[in-house]
Amino acid sequence: MLEAPRADTLAPSLVAGKPNPYLVAIAQLDRAAKISGLPPVVRDILSQPKNELIINFPVRMDSGEYRMFKGYRVQHSNILGPYKGGIRYHELVSLDEVKALASWMTYKCALHDIPFGGGKGGIKFMPRQHSMSEIERITRRFTHALGANIGPEYDIPAPDVGTNGQIMVWMMDTYMNVVGFNDKNANRRVVTGKTLASGGSHGRETATGQGIVHCIIEWARDRRFELNGASYTVQGFGNVGSHASKILARTGATLVATGDYKGYIANNHGLNPFKLSEHVQRTGSVADYPGSTAITREEFFATHADIFIPAALELEIGVPEARALNVKVIVEGANGPTETAAEPIIAEKGIDLIPDILANSGGVVVSYYEWLQNKRSERWELEEVEDRLAKRMKRTYLAVSEYAQLKKCDWRMAAMGIALDRIAKAYSERGIFP
Ligand code: NAD
Repeated sequence: MLEAPRADTLAPSLVAGKPNPYLVAIAQLDRAAKISGLPPVVRDILSQPKNELIINFPVRMDSGEYRMFKGYRVQHSNILGPYKGGIRYHELVSLDEVKALASWMTYKCALHDIPFGGGKGGIKFMPRQHSMSEIERITRRFTHALGANIGPEYDIPAPDVGTNGQIMVWMMDTYMNVVGFNDKNANRRVVTGKTLASGGSHGRETATGQGIVHCIIEWARDRRFELNGASYTVQGFGNVGSHASKILARTGATLVATGDYKGYIANNHGLNPFKLSEHVQRTGSVADYPGSTAITREEFFATHADIFIPAALELEIGVPEARALNVKVIVEGANGPTETAAEPIIAEKGIDLIPDILANSGGVVVSYYEWLQNKRSERWELEEVEDRLAKRMKRTYLAVSEYAQLKKCDWRMAAMGIALDRIAKAYSERGIFP
């Protein structure tokens, strides 16, 4: 037996009242390993990331003073291809959080049969409290410190909470300037989720939200449920939450409540996600959106609606939230939004759950398309990107549905089971060196 999984933070909970996300990821792995019959050695390998990198670095602030920052890059698995996963800027970033997120990336890519592994990174700070020039220096210094630990065929970052296309372009530019003149243009694909002008793909910014809506459309078809006239709630109104809201509105469904770090709002007659996005662009939050009523977090979770899309941080759905939920389906836009103890409550209540590694996978699918376009020096039309994404999401959704029926398991276990089967096959064919 290899080393048993261990949590790296001293306290079991990183944030008061929340479990350790890495232990949640391990609990999911253990459950899925049993269902899929994963060889114990592969389970042991996957229970720890391959590499864990922590970098402490100084950055000059606008005031002229220097401040220390702590950055992470965790490389979970590259058995199926280069490490792949986002970079998060948030004050609660921790090693265990990044480890959990990196492992979910491994399973997400394997589920879709994308030739990537899993990684994740982040810097522990609050970008809201910094100027753009400070964020640029923090990003460039971190990328420089990562050095050869990232690379277009080795480890490929992307945006996550608190980061965006501009930040990816700074990462790309820093990397390109470090690796040498001749290779410069061959290295654009060291990051994905870039802006269009700097080598990004059409459809990447909206891809995660678009993928969520593909899942909802498939779910509605299976359940013979009419989306026109349905209602939905969304926690978190950033990249994922806002785009999912706007794209879902096209089906005739109505956003009735949402919220972010500053507070929650509701309107039974509907919130216009397009105007709400403009409000968030202007003010930085959904709070005080004209025509809405401020509600508490508890009221938000108890809101009656058909569809709930968590699209903020992990482990927001604990036991009290699961008990309060009054919806037909949860579509996990966020990574790891549901605590282990909340899952049986959700199941007992008859609420369907479309798990994160399926529901929010549109982002990494289009990141893969961006990487392919960069590699081939191509630019695909938006229509082509969206058609390919739609086909892949539907195919994977159907595969998860069939696996769940075959193994009589829930959808999280089915999605993970497919991923683990692919990973186990690669290990059994390649063997473990030496
Ligand atoms: P973002 O930074 O654009 O938005 C995050 C949103 O969550 C913001 O509205 C923020 O105010 C809100 N939020 C933060 N803390 C909160 C709290 N305690 N309570 C309520 N709301 C809170 O980030 P994003 O890219 O939209 O990512 C959201 C989730 O989706 C994350 O779990 C991320 O890992 C996951 N995800 C993102 C992508 C992507 O392509 N960006 C892809 C797959 C999964």
